[in-house]
Amino acid sequence: MAEVLPKKTVLKDVKVFKDLEEEIIKANKCCACGACVAYCSSQTFDVIKMDGYTPQFISDANIENCKECGVCYYICPQTEPLMKHLKEDYRIKDEIGFIQNIIAAKTKDEKIKEMGQDGGLVTTLLTYLFDKNKIDAAIVSEYDEKLKPIPKIIYNKEELLKSSGTRYSISSNILPLTNLYTIAQEIAEKHHQIYDINQIRMAFVGTPCQCRAIRKMQLLNISPAHVIKYVFGLFCMENFDYEKLFQLVKKETNEDPTNIAKMNIKKNFFITNKENKVYEVELHKFDDAVRNHCHDCDEFTGRFADISFGGSGAVQQNSMVVIRTEKGEALINNALMAGYIDKFTPKKSTITEWKAKKIDLLRRMTNNKINKS
Ligand SMILES: Cc1cc2nc3c(=O)[nH]c(=O)nc-3n(C[C@H](O)[C@H](O)[C@H](O)COP(=O)(O)OP(=O)(O)OC[C@H]3O[C@@H](n4cnc5c(N)ncnc54)[C@H](O)[C@@H]3O)c2cc1C
Repeated sequence: MAEVLPKKTVLKDVKVFKDLEEEIIKANKCCACGACVAYCSSQTFDVIKMDGYTPQFISDANIENCKECGVCYYICPQTEPLMKHLKEDYRIKDEIGFIQNIIAAKTKDEKIKEMGQDGGLVTTLLTYLFDKNKIDAAIVSEYDEKLKPIPKIIYNKEELLKSSGTRYSISSNILPLTNLYTIAQEIAEKHHQIYDINQIRMAFVGTPCQCRAIRKMQLLNISPAHVIKYVFGLFCMENFDYEKLFQLVKKETNEDPTNIAKMNIKKNFFITNKENKVYEVELHKFDDAVRNHCHDCDEFTGRFADISFGGSGAVQQNSMVVIRTEKGEALINNALMAGYIDKFTPKKSTITEWKAKKIDLLRRMTNNKINKS
């Protein structure tokens, strides 16, 4: 009979959840994406859970259930292993990453125009993907009644509108991938047919760190990220702790989250209440609410997405759209041809000059973020 080796003697260099706790979570570098918990729970290992923003052992009794496979450590967007391979795969040589094309564009849908953060591009492209039967579901973020972001799986375009707009605090968008069986069941009910988990086709919307985690999972070819067919990244200068942010919002505006209609950062923080009163507050007043992991982050434009989106650099009511992959380019071209979106045409400069200027701006903004850290 083969000798049973004590744990970690077989692959003694493999780092495991305890290492993740020490190096990332306790060191305040966790971005709360939920990748570690989603992977571990999807394998029904019964080891870790998310407690607010913190991944942790379910209880002391569950520590022994840890298989010490190390996957949680390697897929964490904040750890170094896999980054070299990932950068090679996504042709990333510098701070803004590979750019296949860059455009500014806006939705042609009047309702999305009203609700979207910038050009409503994310919501419109998801609508297109549902209409053309390219996806069965999408992971986005919604608000609860107190404006706390909650990750949400959407199964049809009619539910999308509620998710449009930016939530300036963490939404652990990878967590809903935990149970693919439930997702398959929902899709099966919609289509009145049996649906296997490996058939699921989803789009994912997230911040650059979240997109990085999805890509690390895909690099390892592990469930549940294999169901993600489109990755939409959001530009991100910084993200905020929900509790701290709304304490400061209350201090600066005297508004409760329940009376806030929209928030937007354009140099300063603009907070619009439900009576349409707009407060402009200097951004630095919210510095204490910025998540610690953002201080070390070297990504602004979402280098690992198929397409990344932001408001910076775009004329009003448009989104900047950075296309990274062939799949991303095909999607944008198809949505343009099908009349879902309008592309901005610069008047005062040539397209080549315009693109160069925008890339330069994004590079400067990324370096500002890196140097601020
Ligand atoms: C925390 C944060 C910081 C940002 N900082 C910048 C910045 O500094 N400069 C800049 O140019 N752009 C920034 N953006 C991106 C910008 O605010 C818009 O999201 C982007 O321009 C897309 O706009 P849209 O109108 O095309 O998208 P919409 O059609 O409005 O769709 C937005 C999508 O983003 C999802 N979403 C919203 N909040 C979150 C969240 N917290 N986590 C994950 N998904 C979410 C929504 O569910 C929706 O699917 C930031 C976004 C976030 C979430």
